[in-house]
Amino acid sequence: TGLALAVSACGANTSSGGGDNKTNSGSSGGTKVGVILPETATSARWEGFDKPLLEAALKKEGLDPDIQNAQGDVQKFSTLADGMINAGVKVLIIATPNSEVGASVAKKAQAQGIQVIDYDRLNTGGTSSYYVSFDNVKVGELQGQGLVEGVAKLVPGKKPAEIIEVEGSPTDNNATLFAEGQHKILDPKYASGDLKKVQSQAIDGWDNQKGGQVFEQMLTGNGNKIDGVVAANDGLAGAVITVLKKVGLNGKIPVTGQDATPDGLQAVLRGDQYMTVFKPIKDEAEATAKLAAALAKNDKAAADALATGKTKDSKGNRDVPSVLLTAQLITKDKVKSVVDAGFVKASEICVAD
Ligand code: BGC
Repeated sequence: TGLALAVSACGANTSSGGGDNKTNSGSSGGTKVGVILPETATSARWEGFDKPLLEAALKKEGLDPDIQNAQGDVQKFSTLADGMINAGVKVLIIATPNSEVGASVAKKAQAQGIQVIDYDRLNTGGTSSYYVSFDNVKVGELQGQGLVEGVAKLVPGKKPAEIIEVEGSPTDNNATLFAEGQHKILDPKYASGDLKKVQSQAIDGWDNQKGGQVFEQMLTGNGNKIDGVVAANDGLAGAVITVLKKVGLNGKIPVTGQDATPDGLQAVLRGDQYMTVFKPIKDEAEATAKLAAALAKNDKAAADALATGKTKDSKGNRDVPSVLLTAQLITKDKVKSVVDAGFVKASEICVAD
């Protein structure tokens, strides 16, 4: 099939992806570390990749992880954190649905002598000692580049090509950074008249379903005409594609994404989504585990040696010591590299068409 050609390793790959990295759930002993992930429904990454990969990486460092998910509920997030603080965790690793809530939880934990690492999302205005993530402005730039390339390929000669932007949650600092990166690339094109921004909307809580509804309204408002869509991640892209299908535009215009989820990669192979961004979450989990291990030993020098990057927290007016990893732009011809990296198995994304 076409997909088999696109992923030449189709069916042959047996390396395990994040979702298959099941480790035994029994306590491994060692220092207790708490992890709270933000949501289950905004991206397949949190439960499918971050959770198993963090579990494996933390255990490998000899730590005893308790990994929970707040399911987008800030109250639940606080309750989970309280439970972990009471259980005597030495390190708390948090990716929060809401930066402000994350900052207050970090403060509370630190008052009990617990070390706090912001995982993937920076809690702006907060006090966490370290931050592990990707260069998220760069992620946005890759999305901007993908959109521009996709417009040139799929709607050549259209000037201005009309664009709708479906952005991530206003309470997630990453969503701000992704938009910042996208606009570095897109603003000059909007200014020159090559592209025209029809509308841009941030989606509360990265809610995929809401993203689809909001997109449908924007599309209808523009007479069902559109030449390209910036969708901030694969989940939102999927919702956008469902709407585009109704008007027969799927595959005819570029849609961006992020996370290289199995659904996103399939959509890229089908041609419904022009690109995604591959963020090697295994590296993120392993960097976090190493940092946590150093902090569990009160070895600040070792932790500082790992977190040599700096992230500006404009709200808190400070630089947060960081580990910032590099993401990759994935178009159809590059899907195989995500398989080769062992992130997903070919069998997970290679469906018959
Ligand atoms: C993450 C993305 C994810 C989004 C929604 C962001 O903070 O960096 O990878 O798609 O949240 O869960």
